[in-house]
Amino acid sequence: MPTPQNFVTEAPAECDVAIIGGGFGGLMTLARLAQQAPKCQYVVFERMPRKAPGVAYGACDDEHLLNVPAARMGAFSERPSGFLEWLEQEFPGRFRADDFAPRALFGRYLMQSVQSVLAESKACAAFVRDAVVHIEPLGRKYELLLASGRTVLARGVVLAPGLPQARAPWRHVDEGIARRLVVPDPWDQSAFRGVAPDAEIVLVGSGLTAIDVIMGLRRTGHTGRISLVSRGGRLPLPHVASHGSPVVYDPRELSQGAVQAFRIVRRAAKTLLRGGHDWHAAIDGVRPHASSVWRAWSAADRAYFLRVLRPFWEIHRHRAPSNLLDAIERERQAGSIEVISGVVHALRAHGQDEAEVIVRTARGTLRPLIAARLVNCAGPSMSIGETLDPLLGSMLRNGLVSADALGLGLRTEGDGALVRADGTIEPRLRLIGALRRGDLWETTAVPELRAQATAIAAALARELGCGAPQPGAVEPAPLGAVGGCA
Ligand SMILES: Cc1cc2nc3c(=O)[nH]c(=O)nc-3n(C[C@H](O)[C@H](O)[C@H](O)COP(=O)(O)OP(=O)(O)OC[C@H]3O[C@@H](n4cnc5c(N)ncnc54)[C@H](O)[C@@H]3O)c2cc1C
Repeated sequence: MPTPQNFVTEAPAECDVAIIGGGFGGLMTLARLAQQAPKCQYVVFERMPRKAPGVAYGACDDEHLLNVPAARMGAFSERPSGFLEWLEQEFPGRFRADDFAPRALFGRYLMQSVQSVLAESKACAAFVRDAVVHIEPLGRKYELLLASGRTVLARGVVLAPGLPQARAPWRHVDEGIARRLVVPDPWDQSAFRGVAPDAEIVLVGSGLTAIDVIMGLRRTGHTGRISLVSRGGRLPLPHVASHGSPVVYDPRELSQGAVQAFRIVRRAAKTLLRGGHDWHAAIDGVRPHASSVWRAWSAADRAYFLRVLRPFWEIHRHRAPSNLLDAIERERQAGSIEVISGVVHALRAHGQDEAEVIVRTARGTLRPLIAARLVNCAGPSMSIGETLDPLLGSMLRNGLVSADALGLGLRTEGDGALVRADGTIEPRLRLIGALRRGDLWETTAVPELRAQATAIAAALARELGCGAPQPGAVEPAPLGAVGGCA
């Protein structure tokens, strides 16, 4: 029996619901569907072989840390402390509520939680290692074409693909540059094989992804200089251990517009600082209202936020554990890490093992760096129109889905229903995750995704009508066998 750890290559010819993506979003929707509609047959498709679900919890080493405290990472909304309880059960006394636990442990917790739900509900789920590359409506079903060439018929589909990677953020690349010197996927753990420990490495981006790559390099004994190149040249700001309750805002005031909201939050942060507190509670207070405020703003306000305010929001909202930032600061002072404000202008060959990276700095000068690897840490694409993802590209072309007004992701309504190019709702086709950001903005992290999974499962279970919902939400037992297919 395949499990979330153990995917097989052969897909069944037919199922009730196909879930595309085996990350947190896909697996939690499966768990909720199993509770709500246990008699349906489910197939989860995942294209990447990883030891745990998705990019965040599967493409990491044992020491990459979560950026949300353990007490808030429960997979089920009705039990936000579920992950902390699991940690206490597995590693008694080792983790506190405000600790940033290893991401790999969250991956284990997630897989065990999903397995337990499947075992309890006895729902039938298959886990298939294959990419879905095209979807075609066929009568009242959908036909999925897989990269392996097989096809699968499904009555309903959940899209849970995370965010597509951005195109490489550099323009002119010499043809003579060996491909291994340029690393488009920062999570590719084989990318640094053969690099001399003292060689210089250039990272494009200075956010959480770049911090992950730095920590991974240092842990594996890389001592060479690391340069981070990003437009703003800003690192994320630090989490603090305890920063009191979030500020309480009136969402109607925040909804008046982007500039007004910025002023209100800045005023709250200044008040906190004047009172001897830190500013974090001012940002955390926005989060519960972020989606409703985003929806209330005009298109012009959203565009202004993206153009002007987003860089400030990102570094305050997506914070890093302070011990990691302290380690980077020590290295900056020692000169082994540099953060450069600028963009990569060109890449030139420089022997077999190195490339010359020409950086256009914010001051307009060109600065050459010699690097053994150039790594794309710029994060996901901000434009769905530019996607190179075969499935998303084909769905946009055949009008099954449409871009949101800002072109950030796909247009959805209410419970993740996808809106076709002609403006009608595609039945039994739902989207979970960060591609809903055009409509919701705050739709990336576990607290938002676990709520989306519940809503999507309830809607699909209603539409598909296979299996009565179980009374009350079921919190999984700690461990268990996988649910059964007849
Ligand atoms: C490095 C990192 C750290 C993070 N840390 C935290 C954290 O501490 N706390 C927090 O709350 N959030 C964190 N996040 C946010 C994180 O993205 C979410 O918590 C969540 O894991 C997203 O899950 P997802 O399923 O939507 O996307 P993903 O995890 O990206 O999973 C999508 C999956 O779909 C697969 N896929 C895509 N297209 C196809 C296709 N056509 N066919 C088959 N498979 C496909 C992909 O291979 C991928 O495995 C982090 C994100 C990253 C990148």
